[in-house]
Amino acid sequence: MSLPSYGHWDADPFDHPREECGVVGIQSPGSHSAALAAIGLFALQHRGQESAGVAASDHGTIRVHSGMGLVSEAFRDGDLDGILGDTSIGHTRYSTTGASDPCNAQPLVVDGSNGKLAIAHNGNIINSVQLREQLLERLDCRFDTTTDTEVIAHLLANAPGGTWPERLFYGMRVMEGAFSLALLTPDALIAARDPLGIRPLCLGRLPPEEGDGWVFASETCALDHMQAEFVRELEPGEVLVITADGVRSEIFKGDENRGRALCVFEWIYFARPDSMMDGRLMHTVREEMGAQLAREHPIDADLVIGIPDSSTSAAVGYAKESGIPFANGLVRNRYVGRTFIEPEQRQRDRGVRQKFNPMPSVLRGKRLIVVDDSIVRGTTTPHVVELLRKAGATEIHLRVCAPPIKHPCYLGVDMATREELIAANKTVDQIRELTGADTLGYLTVGGLLDVAKGQQAGGFCDACFTGNYPVPVQLDFSKMGLARTG
Ligand code: SF4
Repeated sequence: MSLPSYGHWDADPFDHPREECGVVGIQSPGSHSAALAAIGLFALQHRGQESAGVAASDHGTIRVHSGMGLVSEAFRDGDLDGILGDTSIGHTRYSTTGASDPCNAQPLVVDGSNGKLAIAHNGNIINSVQLREQLLERLDCRFDTTTDTEVIAHLLANAPGGTWPERLFYGMRVMEGAFSLALLTPDALIAARDPLGIRPLCLGRLPPEEGDGWVFASETCALDHMQAEFVRELEPGEVLVITADGVRSEIFKGDENRGRALCVFEWIYFARPDSMMDGRLMHTVREEMGAQLAREHPIDADLVIGIPDSSTSAAVGYAKESGIPFANGLVRNRYVGRTFIEPEQRQRDRGVRQKFNPMPSVLRGKRLIVVDDSIVRGTTTPHVVELLRKAGATEIHLRVCAPPIKHPCYLGVDMATREELIAANKTVDQIRELTGADTLGYLTVGGLLDVAKGQQAGGFCDACFTGNYPVPVQLDFSKMGLARTG
């Protein structure tokens, strides 16, 4: 059997959806807030590894530092020393719109009729090409990047309305898509979440030794690392304005019937297992999803293993529900960057070998249930199955803790094109055959949503599984669309 290839060089060699960015905002009186923002960004590193940056406001002056790579590469010793001020925003980026290029690193700063504005964005604006054309017609603004974030920045910096909530609400009326925003003006810190709440955003309070200030972040794990106490998640359509006078919240009154559409992939894979959403720990939710998977696809076996690290919680849940012992059968080498994973077939096996090391003494002679959190292109799984067989596994029963991904994401996640999505083009049995597994079972959409919804009434986006997008999408959307118009 010939093994499928990774596709192009830029494809994720480990076949996961690519994360969509992380944002933080900090107001901490008397502090060097950019340094605190960097702590938050380290916690959000999993949401984007292409670039990182902070912007801080110091007595009306906004200064920015950003760089390519991981937070530790973007912020070298002394880089933040001059980024003074007790109010700041920060960003870790994975490019969902625009190329991976230093000019696209965030935060961006623009100047408009409403004054200076720094912006950090998590999400994706579907109609950004049209909005940019309208802005170019209407205003004398210059675009320096190929990102939708710069479109949002100019839109807001020149939006009608006397207050920031009014300007954000104008933006919410004209922008279609996903956005959790961290904004910084010379005298205010602003957080905003799109009316469907597609991307997460939460508010926390710093302790007295940090000036009793306020922080917000994409995930609660960032609050934890900044030693902030979780206050609450922002509501869909909420705008929070934090100034020296306090915190003001206003909520967009748009189409009341649209409801929340939080990305369910945050729960499956994106969010860190130690983050909380809807009052639930992601690790526990994933255990419950793994238990549901065990109920839906039971099989007799000796051991349950997860593909580390992102599938471990689900594998533990599968093991608990099935009564089959969980084992660590694969060790992941955390220090192999994707730069070193080579694209050619011969080198691809080597790449999987570099990333994962099976433990034959655990696996030899065993019938394995192998839990993975998702399969996107199906390019890595056959290599992992082969690795486990070579380590002595006698049977491999693959269990995927997500439904088959049949539709691309247009809302801030770089998944793949429809042509690249294996489940959009093959049946489950064809995929099983390609992976080399003995059996294959996916979590059902109903099972996933039963676990995710729990006691909450809140809705989820599940469009990559069902094709039911919560907003009208352009099926020919390309992340490089703005680069082409630029
Ligand atoms: S399409 Fe999938 S990945 Fe994209 S927002 Fe919806 S659930 Fe998340």
